[in-house]
Amino acid sequence: MLSIAIDGYVGSGKSTLAHALAKKLGLKVLDTGAIYRSITCFYQEKFGNLISSDMVESLVKDLDVKVEFKGENQIVFVNGKDYSNKIRQEEISVLTSQLAPYISIRNKVLAVQRNFAKENDCIIEGRDIGTVVLPKANFKFFITASEKTRAERRFAQIRDKQTVSYEQILQDLQTRDYNDTHRKVAPLVPAKDSIVLDTTNLTLGQTVDKCLKIIKEGGH
Ligand code: C5P
Repeated sequence: MLSIAIDGYVGSGKSTLAHALAKKLGLKVLDTGAIYRSITCFYQEKFGNLISSDMVESLVKDLDVKVEFKGENQIVFVNGKDYSNKIRQEEISVLTSQLAPYISIRNKVLAVQRNFAKENDCIIEGRDIGTVVLPKANFKFFITASEKTRAERRFAQIRDKQTVSYEQILQDLQTRDYNDTHRKVAPLVPAKDSIVLDTTNLTLGQTVDKCLKIIKEGGH
């Protein structure tokens, strides 16, 4: 099976890139952030916004996560429930980065991700795909962009759907980046053999072309 790992910071454009590349290459995409977000919605529904290890462990005991596709549309079911209409809310973004460090949660998601890669030629996008989930991926990209550019992209993505200020987006982005890079388990770092792409001054088309060239040439 062919697999491509795309990791990167909040708003780096990894999801858009993953879908554009997948279209060109005929691959399936797994958005792993959506899985962590859906589990977080389930947690919040049960326990609210305070996280404790006891509550996490009791959640994980009976946690059932399934991913289905309707065309390109990925739907995550957590214990049978679809949280699609809630997962992109800003409060869920930050809460997710607080729940994601728990190893028992990560192990659940790890199994889902590895099964997906076993069954599909795919692109998996997230934070620890090149380092932990698919250490043997055929290609690994790590996507970066300046903090300002990333906050602007994220703001443009959600301003029509949610009432949230640019300043709030920037602050949440900094909090999430901090949580994701400082956790002990599977922190956000480029894999040693990943190709780091700074997209601050690149259009989506330019980024896609760069990746396609690297893939065609077989790697580094
Ligand atoms: O990519 P997205 O912004 O949807 O991810 C939401 C959060 O889920 C991240 O901030 C991170 O805390 C967590 N996550 C993770 N590992 C992944 C994907 C997402 O820890 N592979």
